[in-house]
Amino acid sequence: MTEVTKVLDKEFVPFISKEQIAERNRELGQQLTNDYEGKDVLLVSVLNGAFMFTSDLVKEIKTPLEISFVKYASYEGTQSTGKVKQLIGFNADQVKGKHIIIVEDIVDTGRTMQALIKDLEGMEPASVKVVSLLFKPEALKIPITVDYVGFEIDPRFVVGYGLDYDGYGRNIPEILVLKDI
Ligand code: 5GP
Repeated sequence: MTEVTKVLDKEFVPFISKEQIAERNRELGQQLTNDYEGKDVLLVSVLNGAFMFTSDLVKEIKTPLEISFVKYASYEGTQSTGKVKQLIGFNADQVKGKHIIIVEDIVDTGRTMQALIKDLEGMEPASVKVVSLLFKPEALKIPITVDYVGFEIDPRFVVGYGLDYDGYGRNIPEILVLKDI
């Protein structure tokens, strides 16, 4: 019997384990270490969803970097509203001339990432690349590139490891997927 976890009114089942996430974080960390060695790096973590991924990933990156946080929102419940707003930002002086690594929990339609890349590119960085723990290629509506992908997944709703369902489930240490009805 598959273990079921209830988050509010919905039932979720195991999808990506703690061990799989940890292993992938080590690989991504190694790749980023190799690619960014000797560069002036600012890692920009997208709150709230990327907080747990960021915290584990940065421990696996063995080259010096600065870390900053930005907050956008585009989701309500299990359906994208299609709207993206910047809630918390930072100033252009921090970004100018730096190699920016954006860290996201998930890229779905790509709208959030498009907005963030556009905002950052206006601040004259040396480069901008995207790391996303999860990527739903079939849901992508905007032609953006995710340079480093943790896991490519089908367009199903997931929670845990920082990702929420109406504010809950972020503290679940693994990734769960909405149970088929
Ligand atoms: P996009 O702008 O790419 O459509 O959506 C990005 C944001 O939507 C993510 O940062 C995340 O907050 C939310 N999102 C997209 N898909 C999911 C999902 O399957 N589960 C959860 N919890 N949030 C999602």
